[in-house]
Amino acid sequence: MTLQNTSHPAKSGPEELVPSRYAVKIGEIDVIVVSDGVLPLPTKMLGYNADPTEHAAWLNDMFLPPDAFDWALNAVVVRSGEQTILIDAGLGLDPALNLPRAGQLIKRLEAAGIDLGSVTDVVLTHMHMDHVGGLIVDGVKERLRPDLRIHVAAAEVKFWESPDFTHVNMPPGFPDALRAAAKRFAEDYRSNLRTFEDEHEVAPGVVVSRTGGHTPGHSVVRVASGKDRLMFAGNAVFAVGFEHPEWYNGFEHDPEEAARVRVRLLRELAETGELLVATHMPFPSVGHVAVDGDHFRWVPVFWDY
Ligand SMILES: [Zn+2]
Repeated sequence: MTLQNTSHPAKSGPEELVPSRYAVKIGEIDVIVVSDGVLPLPTKMLGYNADPTEHAAWLNDMFLPPDAFDWALNAVVVRSGEQTILIDAGLGLDPALNLPRAGQLIKRLEAAGIDLGSVTDVVLTHMHMDHVGGLIVDGVKERLRPDLRIHVAAAEVKFWESPDFTHVNMPPGFPDALRAAAKRFAEDYRSNLRTFEDEHEVAPGVVVSRTGGHTPGHSVVRVASGKDRLMFAGNAVFAVGFEHPEWYNGFEHDPEEAARVRVRLLRELAETGELLVATHMPFPSVGHVAVDGDHFRWVPVFWDY
């Protein structure tokens, strides 16, 4: 028997050895981080513009293997007033990419007692497959409300009509899979899309704002209630982005702009002291940002458990 964090499908009740959800209260608003699983990705696409010696030293300092490591994949559920808002939808299923440990979101929402039919709004930080894939799994659309609102930047929908992959540095197979997933999502959910230009208040205290960079319509979600604040930064911030915000991530369609967005958001987070959650930060990803000399530092919260 191995002690892997996998489910035991034959049993009911608590299924997993490690929990896959973590709840935080932001004033009157409930925020629940739900893990979609992990994505094993080659290290060379993260920080591909870095000096190779510095790159190897960073991996070594973080106790990470030199060739590939698991990226977390976090989605968030926000409850504000009468609305239940799902922010991003996980990878879904793409057997061609061989990523069987991701794509757990739908199952894990159910395990958390969150019925798909109770979701009133979806907010997409962008239309990469690991953010929209859960919505295009067979049978999911039928379980969602027909009047579901899906909020996404107009620039994002436009971008995926004819996406530019000339500045990315992705593993083979990814560009085609990303194109196909975005296309299928846009076709399946066209009538549910509620696009915005720069900013949109999805619910009281829940505001989505376009940053661009990672993709032209990449957006972040700010949650505020009482004195509490939290930002879901999507793909603007990665584990390596604190010490080396100038390192490019191979999934960025405009890596120079993505680096500028990253620095701007990290400065804002350090200044306000608010909580940060990001898609690919280690689960549950809830933490603060500090400034340490000429770089940033991630300070995870103590689990309130
Ligand atoms: Zn992405």
